[in-house]
Amino acid sequence: MTYDVIVIGCGPVGGLMANLLARDGLSVLVLEKEEDLHPLPRAVHIDHEMLRLFQSAGVIDAILPDLRETDGHLHVGADHGVIRYMGTVGKPRPFGWANDYFFYQPELEQHLRDGFAKNAKVTLLTGAEFQGLTQTGDFVTVTYTKDGKNHQAQARWAVGSDGSRSPVRKHLGIALDDLDFEEPWLVVDVEAEGDVKFPDLTGVPEEADLQRLSVMMCDPVRPATVVPGRGNHRRWEFMLLPGEDDEEMMQPDAVARLLEPYLSGVPHKIVRAATYRFHGLIAEKWQQGNVFLAGDAAHQTPPFFGQGMCHGFRDVSNLAWKMAQVVNEGANPAILDTYQLERDPHVRAVIGAAVNVGRYICVLDPQAAAERDTKMRERAEFGTSETAGDLIPAIGEGIVLTGTEAAGERFIQPKINGKLLDDQTGGGWRLFARDADSAVAANDITTINLAEQDEAANVLAWLDERGVDAVLVRPDHYVFGTARGSAHALLDTRNAALGLGDLKSQEAA
Ligand SMILES: Cc1cc2nc3c(=O)[nH]c(=O)nc-3n(C[C@H](O)[C@H](O)[C@H](O)COP(=O)(O)OP(=O)(O)OC[C@H]3O[C@@H](n4cnc5c(N)ncnc54)[C@H](O)[C@@H]3O)c2cc1C
Repeated sequence: MTYDVIVIGCGPVGGLMANLLARDGLSVLVLEKEEDLHPLPRAVHIDHEMLRLFQSAGVIDAILPDLRETDGHLHVGADHGVIRYMGTVGKPRPFGWANDYFFYQPELEQHLRDGFAKNAKVTLLTGAEFQGLTQTGDFVTVTYTKDGKNHQAQARWAVGSDGSRSPVRKHLGIALDDLDFEEPWLVVDVEAEGDVKFPDLTGVPEEADLQRLSVMMCDPVRPATVVPGRGNHRRWEFMLLPGEDDEEMMQPDAVARLLEPYLSGVPHKIVRAATYRFHGLIAEKWQQGNVFLAGDAAHQTPPFFGQGMCHGFRDVSNLAWKMAQVVNEGANPAILDTYQLERDPHVRAVIGAAVNVGRYICVLDPQAAAERDTKMRERAEFGTSETAGDLIPAIGEGIVLTGTEAAGERFIQPKINGKLLDDQTGGGWRLFARDADSAVAANDITTINLAEQDEAANVLAWLDERGVDAVLVRPDHYVFGTARGSAHALLDTRNAALGLGDLKSQEAA
């Protein structure tokens, strides 16, 4: 059998990819070298865009009960005064979900696997280890071992979502661009029966509840992050200081000493303590022929914005709709060449910001830390509306009609007719048009004439703010482009970008 896609590596990124492809009816083989799920959490934070992707993939109902909704991020300086607040209490929720959620990674990965388990078009092989691949004509042949034997499978495309050490990336000989950030941190996961204690902090905004924020202690004595996980799960990340030994710092007595100020008198159990090197790395190429890299295989970020896995989810969302467009609608396969073009600038912007934040968090000299605190406060970042989710720039190049209002931005998700927009309209391409004059019908696009909806004021207000009459939204919820008057030319431009021919020839066909 020849599959549409072979997904190599079933961590969270491969798991979401399989769900998104299955949703669109593509046949998928997932190869995972481990027999069982990785039992310990690494990522703990996701943002609203991920919730929207889970919604699109049909797994939101399973995942949502295991998430903890929180209120953003607080950075505390050397004097224990606040230097930066990215809070979301009372802020609008333009994408339909809260900005920040915390979760337990093994539970999330299990939900993602359950999501495609019953889909006859997806085959997951565990204990199946990628060994190599060849590309001939339009196909990729992947060699893997299972039960001590070599096997081969063929597909139109392969996706290496096989993690930071990515055997696929190494096999393709793709180098990593090093953003020159490497710091050792100790990660400690705890089940705690009570609130976390903090030293006396000054300048904490009135509405901020420390138990609902991720708190970054930028204290040169020991930079540390305190994160409220789901249920009783709490996460600490402690920077290791020069000369400290990884093995010694992972020992129970060393961990207990670090946790003591936060948990004295609070019954708790340490789930694990492990050291990691936080990196900023981006693969120079994310595609070689019909093989793509996604997730940690393509990029690694210091986790200061909790965005590493989120990037991976954005990667596979970008790839999945384009693959489906080729298989289901006959689009030109060359649209997949826009993958890195669209994703790399996003990843670079956010990893660059995380590296910059890392540089100020990891300051160990007390005088430099005091100067940093003064500068941070003078820049008045404290109290601004900035959130980590605001860091995602618009797509500047690729399948977008640049030069039109809002092209490449993420489209809002208000409620229309009492339901979240994506649930109301379904997935795929959507054209929101002010009225019959701006609406145009097309084969694979859902056209929504807003004049005919009971409750669409938010979408109309969005059009009004930009002075446009129609907006065309891609299946991954990014705006393709906008139009004044009829959307006919907008749709024709989209069809040309996808290699689908113009509307008239589509209708005739
Ligand atoms: C301490 C820490 C905190 C973090 N916090 C956050 C956070 O809050 N938010 C966030 O978004 N991100 C965070 N991250 C990053 C996040 O954990 C990763 O980005 C994410 O787990 C990567 O997912 P992935 O699916 O790309 O790779 P992985 O999770 O590494 O999965 C790769 C899969 O490929 C399999 N595989 C490997 N080799 C082969 C082979 N030869 N054949 C077949 N299968 C193979 C592996 O077994 C594995 O299952 C954090 C990371 C760390 C270390």
